Amino acid sequence: MLDTSKHKGLRKKLVNELISKGISSNEILKAILKIPRHLFIDKDFESHAYIDKAFPIDSDQTISQPYTVAFQTTLLDVKVNDKILEIGTGSGYQTAVLLELKAKVYTIERQHLLFRKSIKKLLELGYDPDLIKYGDGYLGIPEHAPFDKILVTAGAVEIPKKLLIQLKIGGKMVIPIGDKVQKMVLVTRINKAKFEKEILGEFYFVPMLKNIN
Ligand code: SAH
Repeated sequence: MLDTSKHKGLRKKLVNELISKGISSNEILKAILKIPRHLFIDKDFESHAYIDKAFPIDSDQTISQPYTVAFQTTLLDVKVNDKILEIGTGSGYQTAVLLELKAKVYTIERQHLLFRKSIKKLLELGYDPDLIKYGDGYLGIPEHAPFDKILVTAGAVEIPKKLLIQLKIGGKMVIPIGDKVQKMVLVTRINKAKFEKEILGEFYFVPMLKNIN
């Protein structure tokens, strides 16, 4: 597990690229500068780690594009100690970003191999989420609800109702919605029954799948 000055240099370039694409939060840029993204993908492909693209990981899934991670995290408006539910742990990279922002993170993954690998990786790197769960993200984690924020990192065809009701009043959810292409939706819970929605651009995600194999 090596993080060299070469990797750090590549991260600096990536951060500059994200700045040029409009990412402006210092905390998020600092997190991306710090986290060794190359350690979250297969080591044979580490030369791809600091290119601003999604990249395949195990189980036919992807590690999200750095710009997408930065954009979703910006919309989430993470505050220190926010209790955040993440759906789709995947490689664990986005989880690490949320933890660098000092949030309390509960994360769910439905692929058992990715679940096992992401726990190992995060702990190795000193990241300590409150919970990494193997399960179906459509259900959320009712026993730990409500959450200040919910971040979905796979594309759903509609906003899962079970997730909406696990959001605190005033809380925010960021979720890509759509079949082939997804629109990024920011949901704010105004009161018990009222949710405000804003659409912020188009993205491509792997699908949010139902049930566990
Ligand atoms: N944040 C991750 C993104 C991985 S891609 C990263 O940057 O590495 C999306 C992830 O969502 C995949 O790992 C996929 O297995 C997972 N996923 C899809 N449907 C899910 C569901 N219903 N519940 C939990 N995870 C799900």
